[in-house]
Formats: sequence, C-alpha cells, structure tokens
Amino acid sequence: MTDTKIRVRFAPSPTGTLHVGGARTALFNWLFARKFNGAFILRIEDTDQTRYDKNAEIAMIKDLKWMGLQWDEGPDIGGEVGPYRQSKRLDIYKKYALELIKKGMAYYCFCTSERLDEMRIKQKAEKLAQGYDGLCRNLTPEETDKRLQAGERYVIRLKTPLEGSTCFSDYIRGEISYQNKELDDLILFKSNGFPSYHLANVVDDHLMGITHVMRGDEWIPSTPKHKVLYDSFGWEPPVFMHLPVILAAGGGKLSKRKGAVSVTEYKEMGILPNTLINFLSLLGWNPGDDTELMDRETLIQKFSLDRVNPKSCAFDEKKLEWMNGQYFSSSATETLLPDVKKTFQEASLPVESFDDAYLTLVIDVIKERAKNLSDFVERGSYFYADPDSYDKKAVKKHFKDGAKQLLEQVLSVINSTEDYTEESLEKAFQELANTLGYENAAKIIHPTRLAISGVSFGPGLYQLLVLLNKETVIRRLEKGIHYLESKV
Ligand code: GLU
Repeated sequence: MTDTKIRVRFAPSPTGTLHVGGARTALFNWLFARKFNGAFILRIEDTDQTRYDKNAEIAMIKDLKWMGLQWDEGPDIGGEVGPYRQSKRLDIYKKYALELIKKGMAYYCFCTSERLDEMRIKQKAEKLAQGYDGLCRNLTPEETDKRLQAGERYVIRLKTPLEGSTCFSDYIRGEISYQNKELDDLILFKSNGFPSYHLANVVDDHLMGITHVMRGDEWIPSTPKHKVLYDSFGWEPPVFMHLPVILAAGGGKLSKRKGAVSVTEYKEMGILPNTLINFLSLLGWNPGDDTELMDRETLIQKFSLDRVNPKSCAFDEKKLEWMNGQYFSSSATETLLPDVKKTFQEASLPVESFDDAYLTLVIDVIKERAKNLSDFVERGSYFYADPDSYDKKAVKKHFKDGAKQLLEQVLSVINSTEDYTEESLEKAFQELANTLGYENAAKIIHPTRLAISGVSFGPGLYQLLVLLNKETVIRRLEKGIHYLESKV
C-alpha cells in the first residue's frame, strides 16, 4: 500500500465499558496493522481526569485481550515512543502549546468561566454564532505578560483562521470541508495543567508516527480542528478515515435497551471471541463477496480499507447468535474444550470428577445445536449431575399413567443388557416395544429420556445411555420410578 511502515492506534478514553463501536474501531486498526505487518498501538487518553475511570481501563484491557487484539506498543509493554498514557506526557503537551504561542499561532486566554457564561447567554439571546468571541486573541504581549506575572489563571487557545475554509480528505468519504468561522478558537491547554483532547491527540499521533487514524464517525467534526493544528505545527497529517455509524437492528441508536452493547456482556452471554471478531469485521466492511464466516487469518488476509463502506450498518444480534452457532458446530471439539470447561465450572458442575475424554464426548453431542456457551450448560448439565427436577411440560406429555410400570420394565431391560452398547440397547428397546405391542420404541424412548435427563431434548437416546454409563442410568431410572410413585 505504501512504503512507510503502517502505524495505527486505538486511543480510548476509559470512562466506561468497551462497547461494540469501540471494539470495532480497535479491530479494524488491528486488522490493518496485521495485514501490512505494521504496528498496532494502544494509547490511553486520560487527560479528562474527571471522567477517567481506572476500573473501566482495567476491564477494557481485559476485553481487548479476550478478543485477541494484542497491541505491539502500549502502556503495559512500553515501546520506543512512549509513554503511552497521556497523563504521563503533560510536559510534552505544554512544550508544544508554548511552541504555537511563540509562532503566533496560539494565545493565552484569561477569560473567566463567568465571563464565558455571560458571553454564551448573550450569543444565544442575540442569535449570534456560538463560540469564543476572541476577546483575548489580540492582547498585546505586554498585557499578556503582565497578567501572567500577576498569576491570573489562563488557558491556551489556538488561533483558528477567521476566514476561508479548512478541508481534509477522508479515505472513504472524500473531501470534507468546514468554514473556518464555524471552528472555535480551540482550547489547547487547560488551566488545570492538562491538555485538551485535541492537542494531546494531534501531538501524540504525530510523535508516535501514526500513519492512519481510523476512528468512529462522531469524530468527524473534530478533524478540521485537528487539520488546523497540523497546519499550525507544519506537520503532515495522517490519513483520516471515519468508520460508519452502527445502528440498532430495527434502526435508531444502538442502546442497552435494544440489546447488549458492551463486549463484557457478549462475553458473559457465551459469544466466542472469534465470533465477535468475525461479526464486528462485517460492520462496515465486506470481503468483496458473500463470504460471512471467516477466521482471524482470513480476515487479516482479506481486510482492505477500500472495502470499508461509509454507509451506516446495523447490529443484528440474531446474526451474531447464528454466527456463534456456526462456530460451535464447525470448531474442532478440542478448541472448544477450555471455554466449555470454564463455563461448566462457573455453573458449579463437577467437571473435575470426570475426565476430559468424557467432556469431549459431551461437547461433541451438544455443539451442533449450541448457539452460545450458556447453551452448553442448559443442554449439558445432566451429563454431570442427576436431574433434581423434571421439565413440567415434558412430565405432562411423557409421564402419563403407566409410566412407572414402563420405567420399571426399562430398568429391567437395562439391568439385563450385558453388552451395554448402542446397538444392543436399540435391539433391547425394540424387543420391549414388540412385547408391549407398540408400533415402535418412541413410546419408551421419551419417558426414559425424561427420567435420565430431566428434559425432553438431547442427543439420540441410545448414545445418551452409553455416554452416561449403565450405573448412572440405573440410578436415575430408579429415581424416576420413585418420583412417579410419590406422584400417585
Ligand atoms: N480518546 C478518543 C476516544 O475515546 C479517541 C478518538 C480518536 O481515535 O482520535 O474515542
């Protein structure tokens, strides 16, 4: 694509959980860096100390790692152009803000918040353009010095051109132009010694050698301001690209009410990291054909900026679940084993009392129908624990009059089956059906399944009987008979 090494960054301001929009931004940057053997950088933008939340940062880092979006440089691992946490770079920002003052591109502003409030009220009342009115823009150097020496509180503002327009090129949207009079005299440095988001963001992108800035489209209005800053410093801006907005499936803003929005919630729902990555990759990008299921390597190989579409896209949770189901059924059982094991442990199922070979068989019979990890608990808990209740609907249907006697007969068949295999069990059930004058074994299969699993769904009964083993099946049948006795 270019001869320069690609350097991209994910630059979150940790104020809350990592939501799917942020995760998509991180993913696109990561895919782009991996595709071109570039560097993916994590930079923590924590200059707004009132909104910064340490726990949110910890959770966000955990989520990014869970998704497998490992960075090459970042606050925890360092790198050549660190520190990667903005609160550790305050001197740098001050130096650059002062440099702009020296160049006549920025100025000290001593306006108090009371004056600014009054100004805003007046502008509103008189229907004037909103924004700083430039009172301090033309203070003489002597006046400025005097006020600085008197210890007056100040901010540093950018001298935005008053006329003309500022234009920047967005990689997927083309030229975007703003009238300079719409751009405020941006605050670069606040009176509390911290830079504004804009100054820190631009200075860092420059000093960190960022070649492409890929971020959400809510940042479009900030970009002309950044362009003015780049021009004022005399720096070449990076390539800008604003990703399309993600809407809820039925339209409208994505919100908690319309489904989960944070990565943690999807993780807790049992969505696999690979599914989430695959799903998010298609929010605003496509591989050029109808392929939907792609693993990490394929995504890296196919990803291209040219296929990112600026049009809004919809977050369809149903599709996410479908995709997750596809991942389960197509994944090798060994790869699912650690996640399923952990989920079973979290559900307090005694997985340790059984070996991994058993777990492998259990996963094998469930994975075809599972859509998320919690389905494994729902469909798999009876492999580890005797049912302590029976599904009410199934009881009505399958534990009818005569069910007790029927289970007693099944018990005796099981007891007398020497060769405890699927084939001989099938044969024995068929024989019992014949003896009872049933057309087929279905009338025996359903009550038996309910007695040994507590539910009416699952793998083929003979497979289940073997998997659970003879001893367990006998114990559960006896329990079922007992239950039916107590019912009458
Ligand atoms: N700190 C900004 C955020 O939280 C970064 C925006 C950007 O990528 O420039 O989204």
